[in-house]
Amino acid sequence: MLVNSYTNDGLWNLEKPVMPQRSRLFPLEPIGIGTIYVESLSGYVARLAEYHSTTTEQLILSKILPLMERRMSQTSPTDIINNFFGIHYSLAAANEIKGIFATTLIQVLEELTLRQDLTNLSPLKWASLTFESSFLRLYQAWCPLCYGSWRTQNRIIYNPLLWLVNTIKFCPHHEHQTLIEHCLHCNQQFPTLTRCSRPGYCSSCHLWLGDFGINQNLDEQVVTENSENSWQYLLMGDVSSHRRDKLTWQCMWFDDVEDLVANEPSQFLPPKNQTLDDF
Ligand SMILES: [Zn+2]
Ligand SMILES: [Zn+2]
Repeated sequence: MLVNSYTNDGLWNLEKPVMPQRSRLFPLEPIGIGTIYVESLSGYVARLAEYHSTTTEQLILSKILPLMERRMSQTSPTDIINNFFGIHYSLAAANEIKGIFATTLIQVLEELTLRQDLTNLSPLKWASLTFESSFLRLYQAWCPLCYGSWRTQNRIIYNPLLWLVNTIKFCPHHEHQTLIEHCLHCNQQFPTLTRCSRPGYCSSCHLWLGDFGINQNLDEQVVTENSENSWQYLLMGDVSSHRRDKLTWQCMWFDDVEDLVANEPSQFLPPKNQTLDDF
């Protein structure tokens, strides 16, 4: 009886291949890291929920809370949930970085997404160590023109941290637009993180908060206004330099504010939404 002998058998590697570690949540890239338009931590959590087609409440209860309970064993789950959705002990009340709740949340998000840069979402470390009170609004504020132009250009809708800084009253991007704090549809305010937060939408009536594209060419107008060839430059000097100085002053609480402002492209815009055609 013939027996086939496979002389190459000895070359087979029967060891299990090493699988790279998989993240439990999509490693969503934060927007504007290293610039003055960095995303807020609360806005990042809301966008992470949106990316997974769920609500912030579901994301927090199912994925984030169990890990936070393990790390904050001295704190009851109810108190942790109150930190998320309450007002006076919220992320905003802690400058999104101060205290065990904010720091633990960042650690847990990094564990779930396997990202290592989420601590950069909170550039208020110096201010939090130096001052007792928070510099952030407890309720969400926004620029309807920014939301509107991002949607018109099919860009990612997000919440920059500087919209929450309580000394900033006007949008740095659209200098004549005050930051809005009440929904124009239902007249309600809502905290920076709610059970159904979604950047660009009211947490009370769930309607769109942005402009409806009437000013879709506004960004091009701003570019023109800031152009060094404009008449303003001839009359007033370097407008972009003046704007940078103003931004530095407005965001004086941010860590390394001069570097952040210097990193700012003349017109920072969030990335475009990706479509199947991009792959
Ligand atoms: Zn704006
Ligand atoms: Zn509303």
